[in-house]
Amino acid sequence: MYIATDHLTGGLTEYMFEYLFQERLKRIEGSCGLICMNVKRFSAINMLYGSETGDSVLKEIYHILKGKLQPDELISRVYSDCFFVLVGAQDKDALEARICELDDAVYYHTGFDIFDHIFFSIGAYLIPDTGTSYRQAADFANYSRAACPDLSDENTCYEIYGYTIQDTRVCSAKMLKRGHAALENGHFEIYLQPKYELVQETIAGAEALIRWNDPEEGLIPLPQFMPAFEESGFIRQIDYFVFEAVLQLLERRLENGQPVVPISLNLSKAHFTNQMFFEDRLLPIFQKYHVPAELIEFELSESLIMSDEKPIRKLLELSQAQGFSCSLDDFGSGYSCLNTLKTLPITTLKLDQKMFTEEDKERGKIIIAGTLAVARQLGIQVVSEGVETREYVDFLKAHDGGLVQGYYFSRPVPVQAFEALLDK
Ligand code: C2E
Ligand code: MG
Ligand code: MG
Repeated sequence: MYIATDHLTGGLTEYMFEYLFQERLKRIEGSCGLICMNVKRFSAINMLYGSETGDSVLKEIYHILKGKLQPDELISRVYSDCFFVLVGAQDKDALEARICELDDAVYYHTGFDIFDHIFFSIGAYLIPDTGTSYRQAADFANYSRAACPDLSDENTCYEIYGYTIQDTRVCSAKMLKRGHAALENGHFEIYLQPKYELVQETIAGAEALIRWNDPEEGLIPLPQFMPAFEESGFIRQIDYFVFEAVLQLLERRLENGQPVVPISLNLSKAHFTNQMFFEDRLLPIFQKYHVPAELIEFELSESLIMSDEKPIRKLLELSQAQGFSCSLDDFGSGYSCLNTLKTLPITTLKLDQKMFTEEDKERGKIIIAGTLAVARQLGIQVVSEGVETREYVDFLKAHDGGLVQGYYFSRPVPVQAFEALLDK
């Protein structure tokens, strides 16, 4: 038995959408495009706000999108958080304009506060003729969506079949190839950004950050290579390289009797595809050096924590049993969930630079002070990241704000410059 109406939205089911598809292709004048829109990280919305709110959000999205359609155009929620829309579009530019219109309609919708956190990954297909079947068009739209370069969770991304896919794929494949060669040829290095304590305002720690220093081009901006590295998993090699560089630096300074501070490094979510990566990969690197575990901290980003909790909990437990610290990075940048602090045994909280902007500053300060108090009571250390002004330094000082890492004190600097700061 086929059901004609989607119980949640009251709109067409996929079956009905398919049924009406061919007929509408003929009725819409000129060409058509099929757009496939998937809500990014919808499971996080369900998890944070409950599935009832999740359902209302889907219903609302459906009605917002439907409100933007012309009389002969079609929409269906084909499954869970995935919407298909058939629109009239003469060419690629017109289809792109419709995609942006639909995405904007949701983003600028006022109703639920969550709407400005809703982003889509979108694939679209410009239908060449009225003989195209729904299945063919859906496959192309889906394929484009899956290939869409997903640069951030905080943005909608889209891809139109046949127009941009090849370009970005070739581009990231090239970047990856260059990355492998650069790692072999020693073109990567670490920079260190000091963290300052607020009593004497001296260096009490640092974060290691990867830099690609090409002999011809100079420093290559992170956003140019990070997405390709993350997507392919090559970032794991980079993280091991950073870990090793940090251990070498600390070991050398300890042997020379020079002062050291704890150094943190970022762990990409790509590691978590291997359940044993801590035992198999990280620990053996660490064991090659004579460095106390207390000097090492692993940073896990907030967006990573929002995914499956089990492997993260395992990493936290294993690494803390060895004496490493673990921080929750970028807290306050996206779907911060206070419950994470309750359930995950992190040692340090890194407040994201978004919390230290000039916008809505007074309201922001209330939130910062509150978060500091919560962390203090839980015995969690706090590092404020991206602090650029004296005003925020003084504010943090007055609120017992832990450590500060930001341009106000220092940008990330090459190892030699960092050591000079440390020896001062
Ligand atoms: P993150 O881990 O949150 O690192 C902090 C970023 O904020 C760094 O950018 C740093 O330069 C920047 N920053 C620090 N203070 C300020 C400030 O006062 N103002 C402003 N505007 N920015 C500030 P960077 O080095 O470009 O790194 C960006 C992100 O890339 C990092 O964010 C981290 O997520 C990732 N990343 C960097 N190096 C590595 C690495 O070795 N491995 C992995 N997995 N990810 C890395
Ligand atoms: Mg970090
Ligand atoms: Mg951060």
